[in-house]
Amino acid sequence: MDVGSATDTGRVRERNEDALLVDANRNLFVVADGLGGHAAGDVASRIAIERIGGSLDGGVDPRRDLAGALRAAHDAIVQDVRDHRERAGMGTTAVVAHLADGHAHLAHVGDSRAYLLRRGELQQVTVDHSDGLRITQALGTTSDIAPDVTDVELVDGDRLILCTDGLTDMVADDEIRDITEGAADAQTACDRLVQTALAYGGVDNVTVIVVAP
Ligand code: CA
Repeated sequence: MDVGSATDTGRVRERNEDALLVDANRNLFVVADGLGGHAAGDVASRIAIERIGGSLDGGVDPRRDLAGALRAAHDAIVQDVRDHRERAGMGTTAVVAHLADGHAHLAHVGDSRAYLLRRGELQQVTVDHSDGLRITQALGTTSDIAPDVTDVELVDGDRLILCTDGLTDMVADDEIRDITEGAADAQTACDRLVQTALAYGGVDNVTVIVVAP
């Protein structure tokens, strides 16, 4: 398996509130985009990464486990806000991929995305939890969450891309496809995707993981 990842604060924000997890031993990959700058979005995305990583133990049922991991992360952020009132309002998106049995099992909350690049075609696998202007659910901020869970049967040559909106708001899907397709390996793809987002303004934190199973 060839895996790459990259994250950058961007050119405008003072802090990087995105977080990522690459756990190649467990074939587990997570991208999270913290919300609520003054209210510790970076804390929320870090809690999500830690909790999702900690609650998946090679699972019997990837579907149930992924949704459960997102719920555990949500609960942990809510509890953290109870313990630290100054963090009220913090939350995070999360998109999780767990590769097992020739499938990519995916779950997400919010507008961080998973794409599948297959035979030169880029397909957005996740549907944003967004009304176009704002996120309609996020870990920690909405009273309850309803993660979307799906899976993709993988074929030779597939590449999976997980990313925050700091990439997709800056770089069009066609260019994400061309950059990933043209890169010699996953890390090169990630580096070029982030550099392109920065070149186009980098107004947000930008984070991407590319997996070639
Ligand atoms: Ca963002």
